Amino acid sequence: MTAEPTPSALEWPRLPHLDDASSPIITAVRTFVTAPDGINLIVTRIETNQPGLYGLGCATFTQRAQAVRLAVDEYLAPQLIGRGAADLPDIHASLHVSAYWRNGPIMNNALSGVDIALWDLLGKSAGLPVWQLLGGRARIAVPAYAHAGGGTVEQAVADAIRLRAEGFRHIRLQSGVAGSAGYGAAGGGAGAKLDNRHQLLPAPFEAQRYIRTVVDLLAAARDALGDDVELIHDVHSRLTPSEAVQLAKAAEPFRLFFLEDPLAIEDLGWLPRLRSQTSVPIGIGELFTHRAEYVPLLRDGLIDFVRCHVSAIGGLTPARTVAAAAELFGVQTAWHGPGDVSPVGHAANIALGIASPNTGVQERHTFGDRAKEVFPGTPEARDGYLWPWTAPGFGVDFVEAEALRYPALAPLTTEGWTQLRRPDGTALKP
Ligand code: MG
Repeated sequence: MTAEPTPSALEWPRLPHLDDASSPIITAVRTFVTAPDGINLIVTRIETNQPGLYGLGCATFTQRAQAVRLAVDEYLAPQLIGRGAADLPDIHASLHVSAYWRNGPIMNNALSGVDIALWDLLGKSAGLPVWQLLGGRARIAVPAYAHAGGGTVEQAVADAIRLRAEGFRHIRLQSGVAGSAGYGAAGGGAGAKLDNRHQLLPAPFEAQRYIRTVVDLLAAARDALGDDVELIHDVHSRLTPSEAVQLAKAAEPFRLFFLEDPLAIEDLGWLPRLRSQTSVPIGIGELFTHRAEYVPLLRDGLIDFVRCHVSAIGGLTPARTVAAAAELFGVQTAWHGPGDVSPVGHAANIALGIASPNTGVQERHTFGDRAKEVFPGTPEARDGYLWPWTAPGFGVDFVEAEALRYPALAPLTTEGWTQLRRPDGTALKP
């Protein structure tokens, strides 16, 4: 009796190659850390056996850039060489569990670098922009929100008036808080004092001063800008849960588009109580590192906008399932899009924004000239919107020779803003 051939004739742990000789095979994976605008950006480049065909991905976790680079180069790259780029869902699923323990911002950003690069590569291989690979257009363009900020309420409102004149219909407002640390705007230095070694300490965070300033800011902005503009404010998780309820209720008269991160991720058990006490729309999620963290928030109707950092949850492949799940629960998207998302990552956000029916708004960032030289094709807002492109993939390139001019920043150079304290010295969650 002859033995039956086993199903494991498959070349485990990989899917067998497609017969189609034109399907690209991965031949090299390289990771770069570059800081053209003074922020570490992490880019993954995947090369193939087809001349000139490569993909670019965003793996940006600014504060632990070298750890992410090492994770891609030492742990993921050896598992990728020889695999077919068209097997992206299998590659994502198998890399995600390849170390048994999974998730966390370092491993998920590393996985995202690979994932987004493969979407870029498949778009280029098919001759299609990624938003078209994702299903095509759900809208003409993605509404963008811009950041208005200033050391005082008056300066922040003046900045908002400028952005409104540029065509933005959605504006995030942050202002300095006199005598207190704030977020997203300069100011607050007046509260600085000397410690017992006569070192200058940064201003502490004074919650009640902050709440009063935000109410003043929203009132002044609504007064100056009128009703035909959408306002956003980012709390950055710096309040206690009861202070967050207090701020959300006080903000109601000014009709926010959403209040961002009113609670720290450790305090999300308070969301039902916050939700029951205020009509202010809530956006949450930039610190999430797994898409499943959204499940209870969507299921129980606790948020209005999903807000995650696409690379921190593992890339476009998991993010599009978050978008689809949110759509089913009537929740919109507002992907995280600050300066610590590379231009490739911004294009991934926009691709989701073009193709997802439930896109709410997209945070835009204005990159400097040096970043635009490193990343030709960097997306830019026009008339308050981010637009679809026609080039295959993400339409963003990466010039290695330019990137080498702006080497990675030393560790800890960008972490001062996370080290916030109460007046008694207690460390706060940023
Ligand atoms: Mg935020």
